[in-house]
Amino acid sequence: MDHGHLHIDRSTGDIDPASRAALRAARQGERRPSKGGRMPVSVYIPTPFRKMTGNRQHVEAEGADVREVLADVDKQFPGFHSLVFGTGDAVPAHINIYVNKQEITSLDGIATKVRDGDEVAVIPAMAGGAGDQPRRRIGALTPEQVDRYSRHIIMPQVGPSGQRKIMESSVLIIGAGGLGSPIAVYLALAGIGRIGIVDFDTVDISNLQRQILHQNDDIGKPKALSAKETINAYNPDVEVTTHQVPITSENALAIIGGYDYVINGADNFAARYLVNDACYFLKKPLIDGSILLFDGQVTVYLPDKGCYRCLYPSPPPPGMVPSCAEAGVLGALCGTVGTIQATEALKLILGVGETLHGRLLLYDALAMEFRQVRIRKDPKCVLCGEPDDPSAKVTELIDYDAFCGGAFGHTNEEEQKAADATSALREQSKV
Ligand SMILES: [Zn+2]
Repeated sequence: MDHGHLHIDRSTGDIDPASRAALRAARQGERRPSKGGRMPVSVYIPTPFRKMTGNRQHVEAEGADVREVLADVDKQFPGFHSLVFGTGDAVPAHINIYVNKQEITSLDGIATKVRDGDEVAVIPAMAGGAGDQPRRRIGALTPEQVDRYSRHIIMPQVGPSGQRKIMESSVLIIGAGGLGSPIAVYLALAGIGRIGIVDFDTVDISNLQRQILHQNDDIGKPKALSAKETINAYNPDVEVTTHQVPITSENALAIIGGYDYVINGADNFAARYLVNDACYFLKKPLIDGSILLFDGQVTVYLPDKGCYRCLYPSPPPPGMVPSCAEAGVLGALCGTVGTIQATEALKLILGVGETLHGRLLLYDALAMEFRQVRIRKDPKCVLCGEPDDPSAKVTELIDYDAFCGGAFGHTNEEEQKAADATSALREQSKV
């Protein structure tokens, strides 16, 4: 963010109070007296939010301050407010609001007055525009941090600067389950600055065979909350953001937009395609992993260099590939695959080694073999390429439950099958 000659405290990122007051005074001076208080202003809508506004880049709205202007946009396009703010009223950390290119936290926040002809812009964080994202900045490591991370710091590939990179990074983990557990634990131990957890489920006793984020006393607790407690028990320095909602086409861009890296531990195809598409639109690196029975798959998709749809253009027909709930999975396999995903994330953050980009790693635990296959960007991919039929091009998030044939979402049908299988097992074990 360009703060011009403002004095900013480099350790906290706060603007010095004198600079803040000068800025506010300068803005007040240039403002004409308002007539009745309601000013027509232009609101800039960035691409990720444009599906809300019928693809319009600018929307006219009225209000005396930023809060009223955004409320007016929500009146015209219901749902805009919850897309930007989520469930709360405060501006979330992954959103910056600007009035005439000046970020509002340096003015009067959401109460910043606007006048005729002003431009208000609502900008979610995106990769590639480091200046757009309020990043955590780490100065010198504290003696405690030097001790805690000493086995990282002594490695030439990491060192103090690499450890700072880790501590300045944010990673979103989709699912606090079998894969999300080892991913979250190792990233927490490594000192990742901010970890986001997307999970709307609660801890069930059948999760405890593999989901090491949760323990016996957590049964019945929301998984995201249990995950946060475990992460902070391992490392209190990690900031944990919980997203206790199903990830959907409506919220995926807003959630994913707030992080540098995304790691997929989803347990269904609908979420897998949704997260892939959202990462493509937002240009976020995606570390993908999946597991079933004794098999695992891991790869990395880098922005504009291929995607999950290049590899799997469409989901298998319903019934062809069972879910873990139906067919089972070896608990320890989750540890192997999730730990590989965490390793790839740390390599990307540090900028070291060869990532799994362009390679799909296949793990066969029964044979105890790792294989690799080359994967390439498909020039005719409906998402990241140019399909033969231009009308097939995916240009926005779609209805993924419909795309995956319903049965691959987190459906009641699947839950019912799993429940039936469990009660059948219970019957057998009585014999
Ligand atoms: Zn693709």
